[in-house]
Amino acid sequence: MELELIEEGKTTLWVPIHDSTATFPPGSAPIFYNPRMALNRDATVIVAACTEPRTYLDAMGASGIRGCRVGYETGTTVTINDRDPDATTLIKKNIDHLGIDASATCRDANALMSEEPFDFVDLDPFGTPAPFIDAGIRSSVRMIGITATDTAPLCGAHLKAGIRRYMARPMNTDYHAEVGLRILLGYAARMTARYDRGIIPQFCFAHEHFVRLHLKLARGTQAADQTLAQMGYIYQCTGCPYRTEGSGFFPEPKVCPHCGKQLNTIGPLWTGAIQDPEFLSVMNERLPGSGISSPDELGKILTCCMQEPVISFSYDYHKLAKAYRVSPGPIAGVLESLQNMGYSASRVHYSGYCIKTNAPLETLRDCLTAQ
Ligand code: SAM
Repeated sequence: MELELIEEGKTTLWVPIHDSTATFPPGSAPIFYNPRMALNRDATVIVAACTEPRTYLDAMGASGIRGCRVGYETGTTVTINDRDPDATTLIKKNIDHLGIDASATCRDANALMSEEPFDFVDLDPFGTPAPFIDAGIRSSVRMIGITATDTAPLCGAHLKAGIRRYMARPMNTDYHAEVGLRILLGYAARMTARYDRGIIPQFCFAHEHFVRLHLKLARGTQAADQTLAQMGYIYQCTGCPYRTEGSGFFPEPKVCPHCGKQLNTIGPLWTGAIQDPEFLSVMNERLPGSGISSPDELGKILTCCMQEPVISFSYDYHKLAKAYRVSPGPIAGVLESLQNMGYSASRVHYSGYCIKTNAPLETLRDCLTAQ
């Protein structure tokens, strides 16, 4: 295997030579390395810098880039694991190259996580993280990071696969990225509550082809009950742009108050906050001078996440304008009108075309048509 030395953030690392034509999809390379996930790893580095874990496990290391970056850029003691012996050899080479406080292990991630506790556990498998979340939660003392790249099942494009993996019904809506994020969060919440523990989302976002969660774990039945109290559903109309949220475990059949059609039920999913705003501002303060590879892009995501109200859905501005047969003016004008009326209204981090607001649909329509 031919290697090349690359630089990501402040870290230099040996990875298999990246030939996008010879190794497509990236998972077919002998040892996985995808430069397009740099922003995902940047987020991990900043979260680790802000939470200062005593120990960090990169449970699926591949080249070891994520764990090596956490070790080198934050000074954390890391363990980097992969069940592939060739990957483990490369991880060892990278640990030696960087001279960091790290160990490499060649284990099945679920076996390792069932045996050893780590302050911060990080799951970054191919596709779905569902088979690793239970052991990940049992192993994690304080924090868990979870990446999912199976956005088609999570977001409703592959409905049956989504139901099988996450025991929830997704739906391919104009806010499908948020549906995927909240279905994964809901799954993690239910897995965690079984152990009388709860989740407190710190920084969770959807970007391009992945969803990434950073969760603080809390102990006790109260934390578990508070977690489950944040589960619920989205009800999406099949005939018009109407959508609403509902809480609890048991979906109620509902009818659209606007057009009388049946509402589709999406979930169960997490309907609580997906960010801790204070944590986001601490992260934001760390960006300048952090040396990560995409500070501006991550900064934009953080700023947008700080502004988003705690609502589980958004509206695609152009689709809304089409439904109401108006030509859309600037989004900023609509947001300003809603805010002037006392409603929360913001853009969303996962799309340039969506609006999040607690205004009723008819108010949103009036603002749109008045532009
Ligand atoms: N974290 C890496 C990064 O940021 O570049 C990418 C990890 S790659 C998507 C997934 C890795 O998980 C592969 O190297 C694969 O060998 C490893 N893997 C898959 N199943 C595993 C398991 N059950 N236990 C441990 N490693 C596993």
